[in-house]
Amino acid sequence: MTADYIKSVITTVADYPKPGIQFRDVTSLMQDSKAFGTCIDMLAEHYRHHQFDKIAGTEARGFIFGAPLAKALGCGFIPIRKFNKLPRPVLRQSYQLEYGEDVLEIHKDAVHSGEKILLLDDLLATGGTMLATIALVRQLGGLVEHAAFVVNLPDLGGADKLTEQGITCHALCEFE
Ligand code: IMP
Repeated sequence: MTADYIKSVITTVADYPKPGIQFRDVTSLMQDSKAFGTCIDMLAEHYRHHQFDKIAGTEARGFIFGAPLAKALGCGFIPIRKFNKLPRPVLRQSYQLEYGEDVLEIHKDAVHSGEKILLLDDLLATGGTMLATIALVRQLGGLVEHAAFVVNLPDLGGADKLTEQGITCHALCEFE
């Protein structure tokens, strides 16, 4: 299976959530059993020779792809959540959105020092979400060198920012 197949099952929604934005909607991929399974298989194949302790997936679509990938790779799963959703003590990281700010949180006991963590989200755009996730995992002593995505939007520069942080990115497909 190829990047072209993955791209063909992702729907582009024009002018969502606001005029001028081409939203890449991966829910059409998720609701197609063959496409969803292929996507998880392709990610699992790519990381087959890595030994991760856990996958950290970012709310909300990072959970949907991250949990089956964790099962396939035989590692645990950490939810990186929006503000005030986790019940136990958390670390908190704010990050910039185009307009305003958002917050991500991780349970303080989710990562033990020295554990190898694979980061995962559905889509990489400017990289702000993933940089906040990296900061949280590293503050807990996690070793982070790899981040996986279903989609990369290379024109928005996120992969370059992650490279500066010593992260190798892998995406199943790209949209210019
Ligand atoms: P970034 O922080 O600018 O890299 O944006 C990535 C985050 O925003 C991810 O958590 C994505 O789920 C979400 N996102 C941004 N653009 C899109 C899109 O076109 N489709 C789906 N999710 C998007």
